[in-house]
Amino acid sequence: MVSRKLSLLLSVSLLAIPVFAQQQDPSKPKPRVIVLGVNGMELDIIRPLLLKGQMPNLSRVIENGAYGKLRTVSAPNCPRVYSTLFTSTNPEEHGVTGFIVGGITANTNMLKEEPVWSMLSKSGITVGLANVPATFPVMPVNGYMISGMLTRGKNCEDGVLCAPKLSEVMGGDAVYPKSLQAELLKNVGDFYIDCERMPAAGDLKGHETELIDKWLGKVQVIREQQTKLFDYLLTTHPTEFTFLAQSCEDRTGHWLYPITPFNVGYNPSINNVRQDAFPNQYVAFDKVLGSILKHVDENTYLIIFSDHGIKPLREFEEKDPHAHMDHEKTTPVIAKHDFADGDDVPGSFFAMGPGIKHDLRLMGLGVSVYDVAPTVLHIYGIEPPKQMRGRVLTEIFERADNKAAAKQ
Ligand SMILES: [Zn+2]
Repeated sequence: MVSRKLSLLLSVSLLAIPVFAQQQDPSKPKPRVIVLGVNGMELDIIRPLLLKGQMPNLSRVIENGAYGKLRTVSAPNCPRVYSTLFTSTNPEEHGVTGFIVGGITANTNMLKEEPVWSMLSKSGITVGLANVPATFPVMPVNGYMISGMLTRGKNCEDGVLCAPKLSEVMGGDAVYPKSLQAELLKNVGDFYIDCERMPAAGDLKGHETELIDKWLGKVQVIREQQTKLFDYLLTTHPTEFTFLAQSCEDRTGHWLYPITPFNVGYNPSINNVRQDAFPNQYVAFDKVLGSILKHVDENTYLIIFSDHGIKPLREFEEKDPHAHMDHEKTTPVIAKHDFADGDDVPGSFFAMGPGIKHDLRLMGLGVSVYDVAPTVLHIYGIEPPKQMRGRVLTEIFERADNKAAAKQ
């Protein structure tokens, strides 16, 4: 119901953009912002890679911008945190409290608070989203939207942690506008919308090396398809605000985190096989980032974030209350992120762009997932609405009244 109201508001406002547009100088080009979400990016894993020079593109972003830990919510998982990030309201307020809400897979019809792309659309800013978790079914925007994690499809009827191809989507639209779907199938191919589901413990037994390698191979296929998709969208459908996301890193970490024999859940037949598999995900991610950086000029803001980190299990939790279902039910996980205290698994935040300080390290947990949407609105000179709990990250800008922002 609420989402219908939001959609209605949005479609009405799309017809009346000049009325809703903020006090921006129409002769000046609007700021360009690219937000890139990397699910579960863990600083403990990427810091050594940065030191070894294995993530040159992320190093470049750090040198030219601000970075630090990103405070997340309690018991963080993707739909819960992404919905918090894009509405800047808490899970109880926006309604997407986890993978499953009231017995139903989280979806955009549950969203009770307005997401940032809807606000931007109303202000006449063009927006594009691809593979962002918890954006299925897609909503009308002033641009395009391609759903991500929790998209339902063939062999993925529940929509949880599986990889339907674009042509296999069921139970709602994965692409807005509809006409974009045929164009993508023609020019990008029938790509996987989300990362692969992990193999079950029973299947792994006795075939560990073979199945691990097969799974990692599929992950790389999905990543290459995503890279092609992002590059195609940024080239042929450039938007002022673009939000892209990746999800395979997190899943790799859950069962292939490089742990040692004293860690809970250690199983040498799985955990000794490809100890570099998880770090290698970030080396591969860095290449995706390199492809995106080709579309980032000195007037573009780039924000990279992870919704949470991931840490080795600390104890067996037999009555696990969280809903990271397939990880827990079928795959022998050795790392997780939905600890009751979200401060145990902070995400990460990186930002660079015009007026953003260089080589700024953000200490402590002063930056939170609630702050990303207000900061994006600020860049466009839009006052964050009252319901938003986050703040504008003024400390990352050279000037608090950052000249790119139209207000003040
Ligand atoms: Zn996860």
